[in-house]
Amino acid sequence: MKKHLTCSAIAISALLLTTTIQANDKKTVHHETHTKHWGYMGNTGPRHWSELDAKYHMCSEGKQQSPINIIPTKDTELKPLDIHYKAGSTTIVNNGHTVQINIDKGSLFNIDGVTYKLKQFHFHVPSENNINGDAFPLEAHFVHATDDGKLAVIAVMFNEGEANPVLDKVWKKLPTLKVGKAVKCGLSADEIKALMPKDKEYYKFMGSLTTPPCSENVKWHVFKTPLNASKEQINTFFSLFGFPNNRPVQPTNGRLIEE
Ligand SMILES: [Zn+2]
Repeated sequence: MKKHLTCSAIAISALLLTTTIQANDKKTVHHETHTKHWGYMGNTGPRHWSELDAKYHMCSEGKQQSPINIIPTKDTELKPLDIHYKAGSTTIVNNGHTVQINIDKGSLFNIDGVTYKLKQFHFHVPSENNINGDAFPLEAHFVHATDDGKLAVIAVMFNEGEANPVLDKVWKKLPTLKVGKAVKCGLSADEIKALMPKDKEYYKFMGSLTTPPCSENVKWHVFKTPLNASKEQINTFFSLFGFPNNRPVQPTNGRLIEE
């Protein structure tokens, strides 16, 4: 009996989902720009992003796309990352593609003589970048921007292990989030900093946004040392979307990858 109920519930959910998709499609048709919403599955998935909107052409034409399988090409004396996080979070939002935590003004990251401001961080399950062929179950991206729109990302990998206490605090909000509706999120600067490993050795390379419009000239910094997240934390994030929200690795095309 219970099994039947479950099956019916799934069937009804599937029906509702189909109806919603059809309703959205109709809306799209009448929308002036004819922009289809991008996603991670099927005909709006990564392989089709550039077909969905002319603005997304870099997703297929770009030669320095992200993510990549990081295999270092040059051993250099990289300077320590000059991170000054002083601000806490403002809001948290499930934007339909990831869960994003927006950051208050005042957190800076200096790289190559330019100051970038921390804007937000978000998560991918499983990881987008690989390291020497290895994928990780979770990756966090800290997105920084200059006032004129230059971008720098710092990425943190997570292995499956002990539960992460800061993620616990964030994850508590997940079930309450309605897609597209930002709610308050009270993370301190110290808690945000705790989402980066103590050993701050990193890989450095040029890449792109890993989501449409896949814009390039993004400075990437990926910490070598992963943090831990519990299996439950990883599964909870996955279940929120029900699909992996990672773009597959892209060709490096002979890119310089420093370590
Ligand atoms: Zn990302």
